[in-house]
This record gives sequence, C-alpha cells and structure tokens, in this order.
Amino acid sequence: MVVHDGWVEAFPWLVQGTTTSGRVSPAGEGAPPFDLGLFSDGSAEAVVRRNWRTLAQHLDATAVVHAPQPHGCVVRVWPGSGATEDGVAGGDGAPQLVDPCDGHVTRQPGVVVAVTVADCVPVSLVDPKQRVVAMVHAGWRSAAAGILELALETMTDRFGTRTDDVHVHLGPAICGACYEVGPEVHEALGQQVPSGPEPIDLRGVLGRRALEYGAVPDRTTVSGHCTLCGEAGLFSHRGGDAQRQVGFLGIRG
Ligand SMILES: [Zn+2]
Repeated sequence: MVVHDGWVEAFPWLVQGTTTSGRVSPAGEGAPPFDLGLFSDGSAEAVVRRNWRTLAQHLDATAVVHAPQPHGCVVRVWPGSGATEDGVAGGDGAPQLVDPCDGHVTRQPGVVVAVTVADCVPVSLVDPKQRVVAMVHAGWRSAAAGILELALETMTDRFGTRTDDVHVHLGPAICGACYEVGPEVHEALGQQVPSGPEPIDLRGVLGRRALEYGAVPDRTTVSGHCTLCGEAGLFSHRGGDAQRQVGFLGIRG
C-alpha cells in the first residue's frame, strides 16, 4: 500500500492510498499479484473478487464503490439521487459496481470510492472544510476532456466546496520520462505539438489544469512513484501488466 504521507497526520479522518502489486520478485515468484482489475484481462475473476473483499476489510469500509472506466468525462456522486445515482449499500465486501464513469464524489462516512489504474493517474481531491472527497481516474483522454475540472465543479455544485480549499494529490502513475506518446496526445492536452512521439508528464499537465481552475499550489502535490520505472511494486500497463492496482479515498466510518 502506498499512502500520501502528508495527509496521514493532516487528515486522520481519511481513508486514502493506492494498493501495490504484492509481487515478491520481478519474476513473479512468491505470493500471487494483488490484482483488482475486474474489467481487465489479468487474474481470474474469483481471485480479483477475493482481493476486493480483502481490500474492503482492510479499509473497514461499509461500501467500496467502483465502476467500469471508459476513459470518458463522467463523475458520479455517492450516495446520490436521480436515475444514475443510486444509493450505496454494504454487503459481503464485494465492490458496489455502478454505471460506467471515471470519477466519484462522496461525503458519506464509510463509503470508499475506488478507481483502477496501471499508468493512468489516480487523482485524489479532499475538501477538509465541507468534508467531501473525490477520486478520479485520469488517463490522457479523460484529462483532455476535463474530468479533473468536472470533479471539482461537482464538489462545488453539490456540496458547496470552494476550489481553493481543496487538497489535490496526483497519485502513483507513469512518470514524465517513461510516458512517450504521439503528437495527437500532446495536442489534445493543449501542449506544444512535437513532430513525432515525445514523453509527456501527465501529472504535470493535470496539476497545471487544477491550478488554472483555482486550486492552490501549496495544497497540490504529486506522488514520487512511477508505475513503470519506480520501485514501489506497482502494475504498469506499458510494462506489460494486465493486472490493476486501485487508488481509493473515503471518509472513515
Ligand atoms: Zn518512470
């Protein structure tokens, strides 16, 4: 488990972090990888569901909310009201699967919102004044579509969050040296367009977008972990992993 150290003492009422692969060695010897990818082609579904139950127990969550992630720009609120915002219920520790989306907002104690990642950025947003949190799965497509801004806007519209109160953490993801992408990605993200494939720092782009939207520099932090070149034991899609870790966030029950 990787946690954002700066939040441990500042916000002891948070449940926060990113799971790790649990691989004992690069060759895969020892314990099986802690795969939480229900919608990827990694481990058997029964194994993945068991891992989700282990996670829910570890987090002491009444419900863990998770959705298929279409790399779009939809943010949902839990529990909410309306056609696509059902209540969330506890259960046997299985994830509460909800309609596809790449962002979740909650202020319900005990409800943990979770996104799967393996290079994409798990973005955690915390408003300590209104006690509202959001968890966003930000690949380049969702980032370009404005999902970070939409999550902040949703917190404001639904719960009165002031963006300059929000603490933003860009979690373990592929780093700016490892993530080489084509010119179309640079263009979609509003960067200078290179003539061929060039690396891009997706967390850097997201951080700048957060600040442009009204977040505050000293409340915006970036994880030092890279999923591809780092040593934290994280799954990397580019590194050939079909498995997924989970970025999670919630308010303790
Ligand atoms: Zn790297």
